[in-house]
Amino acid sequence: MRQSLVIANWKLNGDLELVNFMVSALASESYTADVVICPPAPYLSALQQRTQNTELAVGGQNCSSFQQGAYTGEISASMLKEVGCEYVLVGHSERRSLFAEDDQVVASKLVAAQEAGLTAVLCVGESLTQREAGQTMSVVKQQLLSALQNADLNRLVVAYEPVWAIGTGMTASPEQAQEVHQEIRALLATIDAQQAQKISLLYGGSVKADNAEIIFAQEDIDGGLIGGASLVAEQFRAICSAVKG
Ligand code: PEP
Repeated sequence: MRQSLVIANWKLNGDLELVNFMVSALASESYTADVVICPPAPYLSALQQRTQNTELAVGGQNCSSFQQGAYTGEISASMLKEVGCEYVLVGHSERRSLFAEDDQVVASKLVAAQEAGLTAVLCVGESLTQREAGQTMSVVKQQLLSALQNADLNRLVVAYEPVWAIGTGMTASPEQAQEVHQEIRALLATIDAQQAQKISLLYGGSVKADNAEIIFAQEDIDGGLIGGASLVAEQFRAICSAVKG
């Protein structure tokens, strides 16, 4: 059986007060799903300290494809690991569109993350124009397979996040989401059929307390990658509890 997983992506939001508040709010309950918080990098150490002796895990939102050297502003995957991260997001659509990360950059970040011992959470998803042009599956296939060329499928989570659903309040229907998740699992099976059944696939895009359960009930959806709602304790707790057992 696959491990269910809910990941909070705080993006460029939050402060030390939110770190303390969220850990207190979440740690008092136990969830079927593994729960991971990805705060902005300056708060990783504080979060790691606060989550010791809890079931909560810590993740980075981004890592460098470089390991060390003259790369001002970069943060390596091994640095994330050293401050307690177990996961890191790679290929988030905001990194792709706002910071010009192409498939090649995403692939090298994914390898850097896995080599450092992190589980890479590979984000893929189509834009609205691409969906309307009937290109959803081909875009997802290209993003997925190009990122996985040198990947270790044992340290992988894939998040399907339609770009048109991220932060917009427009959620994919459960059927739309399941269709793409099923395709992603089939594509993973072309690389390693056994491992494909074990990889957690997450849905992301305007998941809220009131739509999480129906989305997470879909066969190939093992949890969620949550942006806006992960900043609101009551919303995020309800989303974590909505994961199927
Ligand atoms: C995200 O940033 O990965 C995301 C899914 O955001 P939101 O939940 O706000 O749509």
